Amino acid sequence: MEAMDYFTLHEHDIKEDIKRLVLADSPSQNKELLDLCKDVIQSIFFEYFHVKATEYAMEHNGNHLRFEMGEGVEQILMVGHYDTVWDRGALPYREDENKIFGPGILDMKSGLISAIWFFKYVQSMNLPLKRRVVFFLNSDEEIGSPTSRPLIEEEAKKSMAAFILEPAVTVSGELKIARKGTSRYLLNIKGLASHAGNNPRDGVSAITEAARQILNIDALNDFEKGTTLNVGMMQGGGKLNVIPDEAHIGVDVRSVTQTEQERIDDYFEQLEPVDKRTNIDIDGGINRPPMERDKESEELFEIAHEEAEDLGFEVEEAEVGGASDGNFTSLHTPTLDGLGLVGDGIHAEHEHIIKNQIAERFALLTNTLLEVVNE
Ligand SMILES: [Zn+2]
Repeated sequence: MEAMDYFTLHEHDIKEDIKRLVLADSPSQNKELLDLCKDVIQSIFFEYFHVKATEYAMEHNGNHLRFEMGEGVEQILMVGHYDTVWDRGALPYREDENKIFGPGILDMKSGLISAIWFFKYVQSMNLPLKRRVVFFLNSDEEIGSPTSRPLIEEEAKKSMAAFILEPAVTVSGELKIARKGTSRYLLNIKGLASHAGNNPRDGVSAITEAARQILNIDALNDFEKGTTLNVGMMQGGGKLNVIPDEAHIGVDVRSVTQTEQERIDDYFEQLEPVDKRTNIDIDGGINRPPMERDKESEELFEIAHEEAEDLGFEVEEAEVGGASDGNFTSLHTPTLDGLGLVGDGIHAEHEHIIKNQIAERFALLTNTLLEVVNE
């Protein structure tokens, strides 16, 4: 049976699996809930098949999971995260005629289910796998993957290609061939307090220094090159009659290339106070390197593009500003991202997937994977 027919036939069960997983709330910072969600993933997995499973126990974060199928020497990787940005009970699960809503349903629990159903399809059809397929699930993606990053990179190094199950570009359904890198900086500025009325000359305003720094940072924006900086946080001072001795600025940086990311990183490393009487202490740095477009990832996209055509729909590629664990895998292996579901409302209350595109996206992932696994 073709994948598309198989997933269409089993759509009811697929939706039940998605529902079960979405109902298991899994905020990144709550180990207790993450562990419960992990149990659900394992039970869905083990209900279906015998696969080689590994669990990486984490003390404070949720545990990371690895499943493997096939005997091949070479490896193909799928990566997905089961944490979400939603607290316990933050959003209800609900359906209307065309959409299913729920916390983390698009980002990216439905994507995880599509990977599980890939294995299920392979097993029920008794399909051979020339290369082994590894599915790695982490629990800390929404907070920058601090504990899973080394594990993900290790798997990527062993893999011929990586597929990331993040949602497709919202509404349009494009696959993600490149993602910007992300960096974050926190500037802690120290000045000198004094009475604004009695001794205005004795004080050194941390806020005035912050203002100068903000304008300099803003001037680094280069939209042509895709390098963007946003001062998204500013705090300081307090009493209006006191020259403020403290201010804080938080900056989010996105860049298309590693060169640009490093250029901005150097800027912050060498940053000096404009007013030499102030002191600036800088926290943060590069978080995710850019997932840069290259020939090999374009080839992966071409395979997906053809598979979509065979399934009767068009899929295009896109470069996006948001980062994912694809930024880490792409350091070591060709990566194609956005192979999860189509929908809208990532990190927003109207987060949903489109019902009538479930089967075709499941089939797109399955057929693309099979092509790469067996080519
Ligand atoms: Zn995500």
